[in-house]
Amino acid sequence: MALIVHKYGGTSMGSTERIALVAKRVAKWARAGHKMVVVPSAMSGETNRLLALAKELAPAKPAEAYNRELDMLASTGEQASSALLAIALQAEGLEAVSYAGWQVAIKTNSAYTKARIESIDDKKVRADLDSGRVVIVTGFQGVDDLGNITTLGRGGSDTSAVAVAAALKADECLIYTDVDGVYTTDPRVVPEARRLHTVSFEEMLEMASMGSKVLQIRSVEFAGKYKVKMRVLSSFTPWDIDINEEAVSGTLITFEEDEDMEQAVVSGIAFNRDEAKISVLGVPDTPGIAYKIVGAVADANIEIDMIIQNVSKEGKTDFSFTVHRNDFAKAVDLLNTQVIGTLGAKEVVGDAKICKVSIVGIGMRSHVGIASKMFSCLAQEGINIQMISTSEIKTSVVIDEKYMELAVRALHKVFGLDQVAA
Ligand code: ASP
Ligand code: MG
Repeated sequence: MALIVHKYGGTSMGSTERIALVAKRVAKWARAGHKMVVVPSAMSGETNRLLALAKELAPAKPAEAYNRELDMLASTGEQASSALLAIALQAEGLEAVSYAGWQVAIKTNSAYTKARIESIDDKKVRADLDSGRVVIVTGFQGVDDLGNITTLGRGGSDTSAVAVAAALKADECLIYTDVDGVYTTDPRVVPEARRLHTVSFEEMLEMASMGSKVLQIRSVEFAGKYKVKMRVLSSFTPWDIDINEEAVSGTLITFEEDEDMEQAVVSGIAFNRDEAKISVLGVPDTPGIAYKIVGAVADANIEIDMIIQNVSKEGKTDFSFTVHRNDFAKAVDLLNTQVIGTLGAKEVVGDAKICKVSIVGIGMRSHVGIASKMFSCLAQEGINIQMISTSEIKTSVVIDEKYMELAVRALHKVFGLDQVAA
């Protein structure tokens, strides 16, 4: 008998029919003798629907102006789905109870719409589990010190589930979703993409931060910090499949000390179109320029990803970096109006039509020549690399966005990730 946390995403909770199927699946686990905690998302589309209502009433106001109310509003999506699941479980003949975040309580800071979990009181949940109940805890939300409802950022139910699992020292946290696991890359781009049976937590962190939408990145950070055993699997298998089969399906996120890792050097190819490149040209090459450029951008709360500074020619250098595409216009404007003048730089040029493609694998730590294999593959495809960044377990390049799919497919093949033809 184990203590298990299940998390069901919006599609899995998308209708009363789907909720009834979730209840049957959870009931199967409970009847097998496990203590069950379930963390649902709102029914699919519900969070968007609610947020759109707010916008309708305050079209001219920036959303930050009514952040607190947005959390009050958006949190109702999970409150509804949680109650419905409790009712469905009761209809299955189980004892079940649902709690909103504040009832547990899941304590967060007060950063509305992107709050961070600070602590979880496990007393109430434990008592219910001990008396044989299935406990449902709303995803996505918590409560701050003053009793205000907060939410954890879009996709935050993943983080709720992992945090609850950590607080309860659960044996495993199963993230049920509409895909059957984590893939070597997006199967819509590369049909030969394979599901990974295991992926290391660090690889998952890189993949999540680079646009793989399977898990909210913070949930992976949480799992890493508290060593929560986490598995991504499909809620679209028949609810009554054999529980032992279900328990080993999907993708397990492992920690390196686990021995059963698939030992590929590169485990996955990640990519995204979320970034844009900015170059400040003709910057006098003197101490402090990086700070003046990066500092000004950071002060405007714009995050910078990759950075390149060229060698100087005749005392001038070019300085390039990438930012999120949403921040692109703001960053260019800021540099033009506040930075290049005082810096004595020539001009600012930008390019939003770029993408970032990365190879990820903990095997890269112990193998040399992986990056050069990547570069040679891209060269063979005639793809120009504009920027490069590396870490111990990944190499990323910025290329023209029109070559993104070509690059991803070629790299997937070169690193031996293509599925073996059946
Ligand atoms: N319902 C929230 C969202 O749509 C949280 C979640 O689903 O994880 O972002
Ligand atoms: Mg999600």
